[in-house]
Amino acid sequence: MNYLTHLECGYCHKTLPFEKAWNLCPDCAKPLLARYDLDRARREWSRESLAGREATMWRYRELLPVWDRRYRLCLGEGWTPLHRAERLAVDLEFDNLYIKDEGVNPTGSFKARGLAMAVSRAWELGTTVLSIPSAGNAGGALSAYAALAGLEAHIFMPRDVPAPFIAECVSHGAAVTLVDGLITDCGRLAATGVKEHGRFDVSTLKEPYRLEGKKTMGYELAEQLGWTLPDVIIYPTGGGTGLVGMWKAFAEMEALGWIDRRRPRMVSVQSDGCAPMVRAFHAGAEFAEPWAGARTIADGLRVPAAVGDFLILRALRESHGTAVAVRDEEIMADTLRLARTQGIFAAPEGGATVTAFRKLREAGWIRDGEKVVLFNTGNAYKYIHLYPTDSEQTG
Ligand SMILES: *Cc1c(COP(=O)(O)O)cnc(C)c1O
Repeated sequence: MNYLTHLECGYCHKTLPFEKAWNLCPDCAKPLLARYDLDRARREWSRESLAGREATMWRYRELLPVWDRRYRLCLGEGWTPLHRAERLAVDLEFDNLYIKDEGVNPTGSFKARGLAMAVSRAWELGTTVLSIPSAGNAGGALSAYAALAGLEAHIFMPRDVPAPFIAECVSHGAAVTLVDGLITDCGRLAATGVKEHGRFDVSTLKEPYRLEGKKTMGYELAEQLGWTLPDVIIYPTGGGTGLVGMWKAFAEMEALGWIDRRRPRMVSVQSDGCAPMVRAFHAGAEFAEPWAGARTIADGLRVPAAVGDFLILRALRESHGTAVAVRDEEIMADTLRLARTQGIFAAPEGGATVTAFRKLREAGWIRDGEKVVLFNTGNAYKYIHLYPTDSEQTG
């Protein structure tokens, strides 16, 4: 059983049939969201039926967009551990701290969730050639799932991305184009190929299903916390799919009767070298202006403009959350703190959530006794050039 009914534009609310592959809304060029018959799902499906299911994101298949199980590409994505971070909490003089460790996903980051979903659905709809601009991890994840399905993948990456990101794509048989510029420049070049060669664009939020993969983080969090949610979620934000996806998951779960109305305060953390969402949030803007000269060691956060900006900003505001910019030096120090205290060898994006936590604690925004979940979105291995090799360098 699958409850998908249609697609709906997140901005102008135009509805579209799901039987066809769509990119952005044909009327207003904003992201499309998958909609389900939640009333019917509420009557026919219960959270108890999840017990004993596979330990991957596909355990929530009734509310995922792939109909035929033969198209569900699986390398083991999702159902990642939620650790009680006791030693880190002691170090930070706090109590109720958790880490959702997305670094154990296939391809080393939570991009696996979104791309597994997008490639599965595109494959089911008969698409054979896929294209993506990527700051790093998305390209690797697309390459892996395209290889598994036997589809063609075209990846456009900034020339200065660290070599392991490129090697991963090339090894999986993808066609990689290195671009002088940022991910936005890669996007422009990819768009030319999409137009001229009829490739399907799986850029962040430019098709509706990567979001559906990432929303499973919200379902998992609730299930792992016994169908409750934390007080605060801190999320390293680039294109914002995970944050927007979890926010969507919470609304779906409430409609299903699985959780109550209480929501976590959602926090976006970005590097101060590329913080368009932080700037727009504090300016009270509906959309974010593109960030000029984006620079950060956290490749996943080097996203100067996001097509889903208004969805990110909405989720932050509706949740009474906030947005924080942190410095790269602090990010690296906190990434190593995570490694030393919790045994988690995190990507810098994960370390950034620790920095944001410290700042929000100092400011009194996070209060004693609150339950806080940090998202470590990837592991360190593709960024290994940033990490110390001499024990003198670790503080
Ligand atoms: C892509 C990426 C992010 C940003 O994710 P969004 O959901 O697009 O905001 C964060 N961390 C890592 C490791 C990433 O690869």
